[in-house]
Formats: sequence, C-alpha cells, structure tokens
Amino acid sequence: MQRIQNCNHYKMKTNTKTYLLENGIKPSLQRIALMDYLLSHRTHPSVDEIYNDLYPSIPTLSKTTVYNTMKLFVAKGVALMIEIDEKNARFDGYVHHHAHFICQHCGAIFDIDVTENATLNVPNGFTSNEVQIYAKGICSKCNKKN
Ligand SMILES: [Zn+2]
Ligand SMILES: [Zn+2]
Repeated sequence: MQRIQNCNHYKMKTNTKTYLLENGIKPSLQRIALMDYLLSHRTHPSVDEIYNDLYPSIPTLSKTTVYNTMKLFVAKGVALMIEIDEKNARFDGYVHHHAHFICQHCGAIFDIDVTENATLNVPNGFTSNEVQIYAKGICSKCNKKN
C-alpha cells in the first residue's frame, strides 16, 4: 500500500521514527539515523558517502547495513534510487515527482522540477511502476569557472 500524503517529512527530526512506522518500517536506531541523514542531505549520496559520514558517530554501522537499509527504504517508498551515475547508485529521501540534473564536470546531482504534464505514453498492456527523468550537462558553478 502506497501512502501519497507524505508531505510533512521535512518537518522535524523527531518525526523520523513516526515516518518510518507509518511506512511499515521497524524504526531501529540505525534506520532512524539513516533516514535522518537522507532527509537532511539533499545531495543524493552514495552508500560510501553515507557510510563515511555516519561511521564516526555509529561505529557499529557497516556498508552492508547502509546498502540493505537503502534497499528497504526504496522498497517501502521513502527513498528513491537514482541510477544516472554509472559508478554508484545514489539515494534520495525526497520522493515527490522530480527530475535530476547531473553535472558531467563535478558529478553533483541536483533536483529539478518537472511540469505536471511531462508524461510518457506507456503502450497498452504495459504497467509502469517508476519513471526517472534526468539531464546531463554542466552546473552553473562549473560553467562560471570556465
Ligand atoms: Zn558542476
Ligand atoms: Zn532528487
């Protein structure tokens, strides 16, 4: 069952536990920490980045746990897996419909808005479960340097 009205997930850190429970995820301390991290880092981090940032404060954390937890978050609809960086899957706690822009110079991934009518014509008989839209190019910061 998918919940559509999850617009409040940026409100407060203390809501993370409730947010996980509402989405059918048992809120262990590590899961809460990982969800908090995703919600407060809009940088579309990879498993390595998440692990490296959280390991000093959670020494029991392993990369496998980070990876498995991200998979669980994606399955439960509280995170997106973005596959535009061919080296690393990147994760996003912002699950509303939006597109991504990856800078081919610095590798940063940015959220970009998509208009409501940006729809695909999925053929009859097909069921689409997920649509990812992305653009590649040079970000404004890198453009300024040149
Ligand atoms: Zn850039
Ligand atoms: Zn995003």
